[in-house]
Amino acid sequence: MEKLKESGINPGLAVIIVGEDPASKIYVRNKKLACEAIGIRSEEYALPAETTQEELLALVETLNKKEDIHGILCQLPLPKHLDEEAVINAISPKKDVDAFHPVNVGKIMIGNFDFLPCTPAGVMELIKESGIDVKGKECVVVGRSNIVGKPMAMLLLHQHGTVTICHSKTRDLKEACLRADVLVAAVGVPELITGDMIKEGAVVIDVGMNRLPDKRLVGDVHFESAKERAAAITPVPGGVGPMTIAMLMKNTVKAATL
Ligand code: NDP
Repeated sequence: MEKLKESGINPGLAVIIVGEDPASKIYVRNKKLACEAIGIRSEEYALPAETTQEELLALVETLNKKEDIHGILCQLPLPKHLDEEAVINAISPKKDVDAFHPVNVGKIMIGNFDFLPCTPAGVMELIKESGIDVKGKECVVVGRSNIVGKPMAMLLLHQHGTVTICHSKTRDLKEACLRADVLVAAVGVPELITGDMIKEGAVVIDVGMNRLPDKRLVGDVHFESAKERAAAITPVPGGVGPMTIAMLMKNTVKAATL
């Protein structure tokens, strides 16, 4: 970061949040704190829940043109009356630090990209830093969302994993999970994956963040039973979440150099 600043580049991130969703507010606050910690300038645009599509798109357009802003992030989900896809499509691909724009999604598919989506990139970093090579391994991703499951599967494929994607229509989830050398859960169902669904010695990565009625935060994996069979497992909280933010910082610095 110091070297960048010496060469006159001062990365700037704009974070848009619409409405009062408590989880979104926490995520935005954590992103802002991460920016402060490493010296990225962040600007927060907190808009009221009744913001219109036109107003939101006009803000994105302004930020696209703003020279001291290198990355634009619109915190999802947006209130129901707003069109998320239109907002994602409006962000300049060069400032799309979430890597959700179709141009960036296409580049990831081809394997020639500027940015990787933060959560799957964070998972890959965890895998790499733990000295795990996915080459030739059975990798099972549970969840097929555009922001986690699908790009996750693609990144594992780029690293030569043999990838299966499961979803709500998968006939036998347990059978698929039991095959996994590397299991990534990105479902949004608290503790769906239990120890008996995990192969002995598997690597288990839990992307899920689910707030229970008693306010506890749990993943998509039942940690206590899963850790008895897994060789390595990520906790919730404190596993994939912080990695997602670290990758956002990385993307913002990258955007400043494009
Ligand atoms: P989505 O709701 O967009 O997608 C969930 C996926 O899980 C869908 O593909 C759905 O299948 C599948 N699914 C739902 N129920 C089942 C089931 N019973 N069996 C098998 N598959 C099922 O969620 P996201 O991908 O956005 O997020 C997933 C989780 O990750 C959430 O808990 C979210 O909070 C968390 N998250 C964490 C992040 C982090 O930084 N740690 C960042 C982003 C998300 P179908 O497509 O058929 O409906």
